[in-house]
Formats: sequence, structure tokens, C-alpha cells
Amino acid sequence: MSTTESTAIAGETTLTSVNPATGDVIATHPIADEQAVHAAVAKARTAAATWGTLTYADRKRYLLRWASRLVAKSDELCDLIHAENGKTRDDAFLELMLTLEHISWAAKNAEKVLKTKKVSPGALMSNFGAYIEQRPLGVIGVIGPWNYPIYTPNGSIAYALAAGNTVVYKPSEYSTGIGNFVAKAFAEANPELPDGVFTTINGYGATGAALVKADIDKVAFTGSAATGKKIMAAAADRLTPVLLECGGKDAVIVAADADIKAAADAVAYGATMNSGQTCAGVERVYVDASIKDQFVAEVKKILTSVHPGSDDKASYGPMTMPSQIDIVRRHIEDALKNGGTAVLGGPDSISGPYIEPVVLVDVDESSAAVREETFGPTVTIRTVKDVDEAVELANNSTYSLGSAVFSRKHGLEIARRIKAGATSVNSVLGFAAISALPFGGGRDSGIGRIHGAPGMLEFTAPHSIAVQRFTIPGMALLSYARTESTMKLLRRVVPLLHGRHK
Ligand code: NAD
Repeated sequence: MSTTESTAIAGETTLTSVNPATGDVIATHPIADEQAVHAAVAKARTAAATWGTLTYADRKRYLLRWASRLVAKSDELCDLIHAENGKTRDDAFLELMLTLEHISWAAKNAEKVLKTKKVSPGALMSNFGAYIEQRPLGVIGVIGPWNYPIYTPNGSIAYALAAGNTVVYKPSEYSTGIGNFVAKAFAEANPELPDGVFTTINGYGATGAALVKADIDKVAFTGSAATGKKIMAAAADRLTPVLLECGGKDAVIVAADADIKAAADAVAYGATMNSGQTCAGVERVYVDASIKDQFVAEVKKILTSVHPGSDDKASYGPMTMPSQIDIVRRHIEDALKNGGTAVLGGPDSISGPYIEPVVLVDVDESSAAVREETFGPTVTIRTVKDVDEAVELANNSTYSLGSAVFSRKHGLEIARRIKAGATSVNSVLGFAAISALPFGGGRDSGIGRIHGAPGMLEFTAPHSIAVQRFTIPGMALLSYARTESTMKLLRRVVPLLHGRHK
């Protein structure tokens, strides 16, 4: 992926946001230097003293007001997303809709997920009450990507806020205006809150790097695996915990008993929507040999009438980040060199910032198009002899984010064999639209989860509280007042409790 850090020119003080379709300048933003990053974190620290002690009901009210403010400004926001990111206005609206679902879920479920839990103290400590309280961490540094500029970072922002943390957010340099719009809407919706509950700092990778080193309590990063590794290394200095949502190379398995048309429809959409710039988009397909020809023909038929553009008829927009176009071109050329056949499109499908859909069949599994994240509107389709081979190939990746299975009878069974953070059965990306389901992956796809209860718990630390409710005479285990008869009793009781299992 990109090495955005290197694009920050030493001494540069502003960042220019550009429309990826036209090259027109949208806005210029001041870049936050180290001092500005520290000031933002200090302000968030002060605000945390207020925000973190509000009731869940209060925070819910503020978060839902923010959601309503985003709804009220949805036309303006979708226009800005269309201009700064390039995606279609409809896709921008769908992204907003999913974002609102998550804000609402986080606001309404925080208390249920985080409320104090009473646990059993165990027989030997039965005079105690034992409680787990989930405390907010304090200040969360959120670093976001550009491909889903509101949905993706919001998976951290809304959940961190709902759990009682304040947030300092550095949007991607390719979606700075959008990031600031969302934070401004929070402040506009909640003028009575102190400054610093949710603020942005703008800049390139260097600003993100300064945030990672600042006095924050966790960094929640979404972006490429390469940047995720740098962030984890930098965070080690202060042992700052990390949540890393990185890339994917998601596989789809199409079994012999799949509904071929439904599978083709989902694959065609999942591979190309948002110009293929989706972390959990479809990149690889493994299809049973018995249905391969029909499936490939169906995918081709659908994608023949799918085209990128910037008008209202476009199926998807331009590539947001110019440097990604070279990666997509390299993957297509490498696939064709490695025995693959392009049944739709090819290197000529790239024209300016737009890439027409490309379908590559039976590419060698060692080629870049199969091993690396392509992040473009391309897909590889490989024929397999059975589900076992499909599962083996699907799992043979350094990434493990999303996945999908198409099978009329064995969907769940096959899903359970896939090494991934999430699997959709008979759909693609279903898991990303269900707020209660955690989202994230392992290995090069990252560490930790956003969304749902696990995503909320990421932004808290358990505080264990043991309350001695009464003393048992002679049973003062944690005291020099312990008697010899207590020890005798324990020596009789412990084998009864733990020594009877054969
Ligand atoms: P990127 O890694 O280039 O940049 C992401 C963010 O990190 C940007 O804000 C950037 O300025 C910042 N950054 C760069 N260098 C930094 C450093 N050294 N320290 C701190 N911050 C730094 O990624 P991108 O191109 O913006 O996003 C695309 C990637 O994001 C793809 O790999 C995609 O799969 C992934 N992604 C993952 C998810 C998920 O939830 N798993 C969601 C969306 C996108």
C-alpha cells in the first residue's frame, strides 16, 4: 500500500485536498506538527475528566444527537465524500447509513456491554463480593484510511466515545475534509460539551506518527499492514496498546451446490464496488470445476455492464489514491505472465483515474494478484476440484480478514473451516453491516476487533474489585492472624475441591 509518511515534505505546513476524478483543489488544511498534536491530546485529556464520568444515558443522548446532525447534513456530507473520495453519491449515502447504524448501536448498547458484572468469588473466598468494572482508557488516538472515510474510523470513534473515552482523530490525507466534517458535526450537535471530546488533527503520516508517540492510552489504526507494523513498533516505546485494522485478500468459495447466479452477482459487486478499494472486498474466488464455466460467464455478463465514472450513472468512482493505479496494473500484468487469462478487461482497462472491471481466470497462486492486496476492481477466479481444495487455497494467505461461502446445503459447515475474522454465507460483506458482529482479522489483517461488544471492550480496561463483606473467624487467609487449625482445615478441603478428578 501507500507509504504516505514519505509524502510529507519537510517543512510543509499545509495539506491540499484534491478531487481524484478532476484534480481540482477542494481545500487546504493546516498540518498539525508535534506541538499541535500534543496540545490536542492534552485538551482531550482534560475533556476526558468530564466525558468519562457522564452516565451512559447522557453519552447516549450526545451520540444520538451527533447521528441526527449527520442526517440533517447528509446531502452536504455525501457531496463532500463524492468530491474528496470519488465514490458515487449513492455509495456515500450507504456508507453514511452504516455509520449511523454503528453510532446508534454503540450509544444504545454501551451500558449493557460495560455494566458492572458480579462474579463468583469461589468457595475459599466466599466472604467476598467480586465485581468487574469496565473503565474507559482515557484518550484514544484514532488514525484512519480514506477508502471508507466515515464508516471505517467510526468503528473506533463511536465505540471509544460510547465507552467514555475522548478521541483525537487523524483522518487520512486523502479524506481530511470528510474527517473534519464529521468531528465538526459532533461539536455542532453538542455545544454544551467541553472542547476536546472528539477532535481532529490533520496531516500526513508524520502527524499520525506524532499521535502514536503522544500521551494517549490506545491507538486505533485502520490502514495498510505496512503502516500497522510501523505503528506497533512505535507504540512499543510507551507500551501503548494498539488496535490494528489492516488489509485483506478475501477469498470466496463457490461450492458445487451454490446458487450460481446469486454467487456471481455477489462476487461481481464485492470485487468492484468502491473501485475494489474495500479491505474486505472480494479479491480471490475458488469455484468448483463442475460449475466454473457457468459461473465465470455469469460474472462476466454482469460486469460487462458495470463501468466507473463520476456521473450519476457510474457504478463506481475513480481510484482515490493515484499510486494505487500502478499496483493494480502490476497485478494484472503479473497475473497474465503467470498463466492467467483475462476473460474481461486487462491492462488496457486502466484509463486515467478510472479502472474498468477486470476478471482474471486460473492465475498461478504464487502471483502478486493472488498473494498481495490489489485494492482495485479486479478479481481472480480459480477452478478447484472440491471444497477441501478451496478451503486449503483460501486459507493459504498472510491475510485473514473477511471471506464468503456460497453453498445451498453446507454454507455454515464450510464457513467454520475458513481462517478469517468473518465469513458471509450466501452473501458478501453481510458481517460488515451487522453492528453487533465484531470485525477484524489476524496476521497481516491486524490485531483486535471493532464493532459489537468485543469492539466496545477494546476501549476499556477491566477493574477488578474484591469487597470483603464479613470476616470468618479463624479464616483470615491473607493475614498473619491465620491459625494452625485454619491450615489444617485447608489441607483437608483443598484435596476435596481439586484432587478428585481422574
Ligand atoms: P495507509 O496505511 O497508507 O494510511 C492509513 C493512515 O495511516 C493514514 O491516515 C496515514 O496518514 C497514516 N500513517 C501513515 N504512516 C504513518 C505512520 N508511520 N504512523 C502513523 N500513521 C501513519 O493506508 P490507506 O492507504 O489510507 O488505507 C488503505 C488500507 O487500509 C488498505 O490496506 C485497506 O485494506 C485497509 N483498510 C482496512 C480496514 C479494516 O477495517 N481492516 C478498513 C479500511 C481499510
